[in-house]
Amino acid sequence: MIRRFNPVCKASHFRYNRRVITIEGLSASRGIAIGPVFCLVEEGAPAIPRHSIPPEAVDGEWKRFEEALSRSRDEIVALKDGGPGEQAAIFDAHLMMLSDPEFIPAVRAALSRDLVNVEAVLADKVGEAAATLRATGDAYLAERAVDIEDAFGRVSAHLARLDSRAAARFVPPGSIVVARNIKPSEALSLKDSGLAGIALEEGGATSHVAILARSWGIPAVMGARGLLGAAGDGETVILDAHDGLVIVSPASDQLNHYRSRAQADRVLREEEVSRAALLAEEPATTACGTPLSFRANIALASEAGSARAAGARGVGLFRSEFLFLSSARLPDEDEQYAAYREAVEAADGDPVVIRTLDAGADKMLAEQGELRERNPLLGWRALRYCLDRRDLFKTQLRALARASAHGDLRVMFPMVSSVEELDAALDVLDEAREECARDGSRFNPEMKVGVMVEIPSAAVCADLLAKRADFLSIGTNDLIQYTMAVDRENAKVAHLFDQYSPAILRLVKRTIDAGRDAGIEVSLCGEMAGDPEATVLLLGLGLRSFSMDAGRLPSVREVAGRATIADAEALASAALSLSAAREVRKLVQERMRAYA
Ligand code: PEP
Ligand code: MG
Repeated sequence: MIRRFNPVCKASHFRYNRRVITIEGLSASRGIAIGPVFCLVEEGAPAIPRHSIPPEAVDGEWKRFEEALSRSRDEIVALKDGGPGEQAAIFDAHLMMLSDPEFIPAVRAALSRDLVNVEAVLADKVGEAAATLRATGDAYLAERAVDIEDAFGRVSAHLARLDSRAAARFVPPGSIVVARNIKPSEALSLKDSGLAGIALEEGGATSHVAILARSWGIPAVMGARGLLGAAGDGETVILDAHDGLVIVSPASDQLNHYRSRAQADRVLREEEVSRAALLAEEPATTACGTPLSFRANIALASEAGSARAAGARGVGLFRSEFLFLSSARLPDEDEQYAAYREAVEAADGDPVVIRTLDAGADKMLAEQGELRERNPLLGWRALRYCLDRRDLFKTQLRALARASAHGDLRVMFPMVSSVEELDAALDVLDEAREECARDGSRFNPEMKVGVMVEIPSAAVCADLLAKRADFLSIGTNDLIQYTMAVDRENAKVAHLFDQYSPAILRLVKRTIDAGRDAGIEVSLCGEMAGDPEATVLLLGLGLRSFSMDAGRLPSVREVAGRATIADAEALASAALSLSAAREVRKLVQERMRAYA
């Protein structure tokens, strides 16, 4: 929703003519950021990224283009040589187009003039050329328009493969990245650009970009519809990620107000860090002395050390796919081993649960992206992808087995939907261990193996899975998505994504009970674990092990430390008797006042 008003503003000439625009979205990572906009736009299908570049980047962009041209030419030559004779003429025409003495220099000239990334320049030029040919009304020339689109479509695909995250290199430090949506792989490369905040038109609080932004402490607002139309490159915006607002062209009094709020935030954060350090010294228990375990969710091995400093006793979820998304090629066994070992050593004897590759949906590897599935959330992803790509899976499992020699590494399979799938994954793990034993690589034969319960079928059959696993971990982000049939990234249906839905409470309880009956640990590593409002309810449902973004640990631990199991169980049983999420929320919020 967009609100407009005229600011009372005397600061500059420019502002007399500007209107402050405030766009409401949802807070995905709390904090305040103020800075110039850097727009990341995608156009068409397949999506073409568009963003500005500084003049000194023109040569680098041109090199990327030349490399993509040369790869496309090689590909066409191979196709031409391997195909029937009549195709040769078409491919010859494509080769000529890729060397066209007018078109190619025109791309270069537009790149230097427009100062936008080369894939956007190429899309513009191809669009213009094709439109000119079609406008002639000549059927033969109109067909050539299709050939141009086809030949340069190949170049565009190579550009995307060469560096789909090129934009990150151009983000000036301190910028607020504004986009319709960004992929987690893009967020990974943006992180090091020194960006100040993220504002997206789409996305939800449990989307991976939101999760990453929270763990890196980068303020983020999502679901801010209309933002791209309102904020242009370089314009100053205030990101109020406490209240989920983006303020475009703010007035000077607003800037002053938010600058002091940002300063107050910094002080608060420092206090939280000292509180976390104090808490970390104490054993984690409820007020009645029931022991609890608090671990951290991490995306990169390097975060394991800081999680420990923030009071986490181990890692409850290491999302290993970020290792695969952070570079253009897949990490080999030794690279993976080094990363897993780093995390295990940083945990200093505490458990580190490493989830095997959960690629797909919003975290696509190249070959998954090329499939263009109609419904990637229900498609070739996570464990089902790994079981088809056995070599890749076994390489990861060997790396994990080898790293298990250095500490309490535990393996966890994501998106398990049936016992058969778990058995198939366990078979590959056995093979990986046998291979390690054959080559004399050290590993821990007692390494624990767990299952993520994040698909409703897994929660319903948690008793069956619990018989074969050493532990279960509930992924409420996907469990809510799949149970309620709500895409967790879709801001339009975000109101239906509700952790208090009676269906969710029942599935969480069922899973915890199944683990207890089988005598194995059940933890919860979805975003619900890091929501202090839900802590007492979860304790009452029987949860004793929580894993969350390390920044949320202090508040969750504090609430848990004030609760007794008897009170928590009374709350959970009252919540389970209710028939609507809204009633559960009301009850939980009322009871939580006692813990404030
Ligand atoms: C989940 O689904 O709850 C989970 C923790 O995994 P991810 O958010 O990475 O899908
Ligand atoms: Mg998940």
